[in-house]
Amino acid sequence: MKVTTKEIRVRTRGFTDIIDLTKEVQEIVRESGLREGSVVVFVRGSTASITTIEYEPGLVKKDFAEFLERIAPYDYPYEHHKMWGDDNGSAHLRASLVGPSVVVPFVDGRLLLGTWQQIVLVDFDTRSRDRTVFVQVLGS
Ligand code: ZN
Repeated sequence: MKVTTKEIRVRTRGFTDIIDLTKEVQEIVRESGLREGSVVVFVRGSTASITTIEYEPGLVKKDFAEFLERIAPYDYPYEHHKMWGDDNGSAHLRASLVGPSVVVPFVDGRLLLGTWQQIVLVDFDTRSRDRTVFVQVLGS
């Protein structure tokens, strides 16, 4: 088995900004030269997530953000705000709920994603951020 680790750097706008990383991840898997295995996609930080979604405007620009606003509203008196004078308690909770990583298997160097399933970075923070996403390919 072989392991390679690469980074993707992304500037986000925050506020549930959703960025499609599928092409970059597929390219990293292809460049690894590995035929079969799994790729781990992980974002560093406690106010962003990696997940999969159908990357279409309804979900990406509206539905996903509204869904999470119902679960962890922006405007709520979180203890986190009292502790740090922050306004991003909702971002921390949303990021914990959605999670920091996904694992996607690949065969013949191709990700086994559905046609309408994209790998995305979601930035929940309440400002623009520079994000580092680690892409670790494990396989043979
Ligand atoms: Zn915070």
